[in-house]
Amino acid sequence: MIAMSIACDPKLLIADEPTTALDVTIQARILELLRELQRDSGMSVLFITHDLGVVADIARHVVVMYGAQVVESADVDNLFGAPRHPYTSGLLGAMPQVALERGHDPIAIPGTVAQAHSWPSGCRFNPRCIYREEGTCTTAAIPLEPIGGGLVRCARAAELQSTLGRAMVTA
Ligand code: SF4
Repeated sequence: MIAMSIACDPKLLIADEPTTALDVTIQARILELLRELQRDSGMSVLFITHDLGVVADIARHVVVMYGAQVVESADVDNLFGAPRHPYTSGLLGAMPQVALERGHDPIAIPGTVAQAHSWPSGCRFNPRCIYREEGTCTTAAIPLEPIGGGLVRCARAAELQSTLGRAMVTA
């Protein structure tokens, strides 16, 4: 599949969950192959995955989506080192690798994603967010705004900055 997709020398390769359901050895080989192809050809690779371990391994820039919206966009070091959206922070706290390193169980994000036809008003993540503030988070749609060199869709991003960073350090 990868050979077919690069046969016409594309400028952009969209790799949608290319490592899902592969064992870790094959996964590592696929990632290395994509890295080599990208390096040799100069093409861009848009890598879509639910696996943050893979993201940490291969990405330079990360876009996190929730409820069909971009909620955070940042370079990979900033995103993992100082997440600025509560959903990103929750995803990192739920990673087994992160939990293991910090000596605790993974922390699940409460609740489930709403149906696409019934998004909550205000922030789409608000029913699951432990930092939700009535009114601020529940009334108007939240715009994606620049902060700290990236983009974040959170009405409380500026005030939560140190809290989310601390949560990552101590979780
Ligand atoms: S806008 Fe409010 S509910 Fe949404 S992520 Fe930010 S703090 Fe949480």
